[in-house]
Amino acid sequence: MSALRDRLAENLAVIRQRMADACARSGRAADAVRLIAVTKSGSIEAVQQLVDLGVTELGESRPQQLLDRAAVIHGDVRWHLIGHLQRNKARRIIPAIACIHSIDSLRLLQTLESIAGELGVRLQGLLEVNVSGEEAKDGFAPDELLASVDALAGLQHVQIKGLMTMAPYSEDPETARPVFAALRTFRDQLAARLPSHALAELSMGMSGDFEVAIEEGATLVRVGSSLFEGLPE
Ligand SMILES: *Cc1c(COP(=O)(O)O)cnc(C)c1O
Repeated sequence: MSALRDRLAENLAVIRQRMADACARSGRAADAVRLIAVTKSGSIEAVQQLVDLGVTELGESRPQQLLDRAAVIHGDVRWHLIGHLQRNKARRIIPAIACIHSIDSLRLLQTLESIAGELGVRLQGLLEVNVSGEEAKDGFAPDELLASVDALAGLQHVQIKGLMTMAPYSEDPETARPVFAALRTFRDQLAARLPSHALAELSMGMSGDFEVAIEEGATLVRVGSSLFEGLPE
């Protein structure tokens, strides 16, 4: 085993253990939460090693980088787009991804719906919600989504599987807890008005706060930097 592979295997084992511990603390099954390995801070070589170590779900925040990497990484991989998508890139990205976490406007949603229809595919997606109300953040305001339930109920080609959020940056993971709890509460509220969608997925939690997110109900955690830390040169 190479030093790179050893260290990646160790980082991965630590993260999976911390995920399992957070599940146990909150009375959730260990398989209730999936790891999305966010690869933007890793080299191609390191990402390929992760896949060879059995990681199957990879996330990228930039569409072009996702396409570039999807073209060279081989193995059993499902790609998740987790960052903002410009509508003019939708046609190229849809065939490359298993899920988009960052549907952040009705216009984007409508573009995805019509292109997925043209391509004859079903696209899985999550609605990005700005629960903390920060000005600079992408995502729907909760009220905007509640006012859009008819449009959501009418979708035929995009399957909305749940919600995603980003907590404000903080050194203290506890700062994120109320944001994650609010996403979950909002999900329950939206699901009650959208019986046609299960909204089972909650994509929340990153390297600094994924344990808190799991305690608050995350089903997908997006972990990047702590997977790739301490790698040999
Ligand atoms: C980069 C990124 C992550 C991963 O963040 P880390 O702190 O590196 O774990 C998660 N979600 C989104 C949307 C990101 O852009």
